[in-house]
Amino acid sequence: MFEGLSGRLSGVFDKLTRRSSLTEADVDEAMREVRVALLDADVALPVVKRFIAQVKEEAIGQQVIRSVTPGQMVVKIVHDALVAMLAGDGDAEPDPMMLGIDIAHTPPVPILMVGLQGSGKTTSSAKIGLRIKTRERKKVLLASLDVYRPAAQQQLAILGEQTGIDTLPIVVGQMPVAIAERAMKEARAGGYDVVILDTAGRLHIDEVLMAEVAAVRELVRPHETLLVTDAMTGQDAVTIASEFNEKVGITGIVLTRVDGDSRGGAALSMRAVTGVPVKLMGIGEKMEDLDAFHPQRVAGRILDMGDIVSLVEKAAQTIELEDAERMAKRMAEGKFDLEDLLAQLRQIKRMGDVKGLLGMMPGISKMQRQMAETQIDDKMIPRQEAIILSMTLKERRTPEIIKASRKKRIAAGSGTTIPEVNRLLKQHEQMATVMKRLKKLGGRKGLMNMLK
Ligand code: GDP
Ligand code: MG
Repeated sequence: MFEGLSGRLSGVFDKLTRRSSLTEADVDEAMREVRVALLDADVALPVVKRFIAQVKEEAIGQQVIRSVTPGQMVVKIVHDALVAMLAGDGDAEPDPMMLGIDIAHTPPVPILMVGLQGSGKTTSSAKIGLRIKTRERKKVLLASLDVYRPAAQQQLAILGEQTGIDTLPIVVGQMPVAIAERAMKEARAGGYDVVILDTAGRLHIDEVLMAEVAAVRELVRPHETLLVTDAMTGQDAVTIASEFNEKVGITGIVLTRVDGDSRGGAALSMRAVTGVPVKLMGIGEKMEDLDAFHPQRVAGRILDMGDIVSLVEKAAQTIELEDAERMAKRMAEGKFDLEDLLAQLRQIKRMGDVKGLLGMMPGISKMQRQMAETQIDDKMIPRQEAIILSMTLKERRTPEIIKASRKKRIAAGSGTTIPEVNRLLKQHEQMATVMKRLKKLGGRKGLMNMLK
């Protein structure tokens, strides 16, 4: 039984080591489709080019998961890169209460809303005001600085009434900077926590508009300046976002009409050119239709290859489970050769988390887990993998035969050093000892029972 099992296992491990890695040709071929998908989603061309070049570099050489084609693998890598890019660092899941908006300052805290005409500034101002009022229990004042569009100020007053939020009384003839000044004064006097300043937009970027918004910003010095943009904005998104960012300075983006047909490529374009996070999404005309930005959801929509992504994810999960079970069985047998170590290293690499992997393995005590954790360093994994790959199959199965001349050959072949090879062998030896001791301690039956 022992022989049969190990024979079967090495067959499986051979297959594991034979997993192919992505070639430049694989990646190029798949990227042609990705490019079309991104352009279809209205991601701006320069952003598409840059994104593809960057992901291509990352993808070449990555392992292809068994039962998945190289093309499918590339799609999954692109998807993950898209999510990471949209999420940025640290703001992957914004606080649902605060919606990623910074209002933790001495009141009254001004929020400046900017953007082109019709992008949804006035609607979003009221939506955000309602959130802050109901969820944060803050006193909010809405003020319209739009003196250009007929009835724009009245529009905000109506939304204020609808949501039960105070709006700054309209003074006919007053200009935007003066209105902003009055709003802040009124907010201080009235004990308001937050003042949302809804500015006027134009049909296109123009200098007068920019100068006016910049003047308002100079006066109120907002912690948050939100650029409101329609999700249907196409190639223009790049110009709009970079102009507003340069001339006014923005801290966040509100993407509106996400409830429409557009695939929202503008989100990626704007994020890429400004580095500013998309914080909120407008998902309808009603006052409740505001949501935190979900990078996963938007990335899925931009790429529009969700079925392939979930297929690859499922394949990866299956393999993780199989590997963990296989490894656990081997351990129960008290066996652990360099092939096992290689499989383990690869699994750690895939999962990117030592603790996660060890946690999945049954029959490992806390102490042994800690020992393995300190010995496996994520940064060393590619080098360790290279060392094992430079060994013959016989060497991997019977590490005892690896003496000085073989070590020299392995170090040269893997582009590492003899001390590194020694360290890996030492580490393996210690782990193999633990496995043997584990078997003795529990007895095979006992351990097998623990695995069930
Ligand atoms: P502004 O010119 O930037 O102030 O834009 P408005 O706030 O006046 O919005 C223009 C139109 O877009 C209005 O009819 C809004 O009801 C509509 N609108 C705003 N945001 C959304 C959204 O997220 N989804 C949908 N479907 N309509 C929206
Ligand atoms: Mg408006």
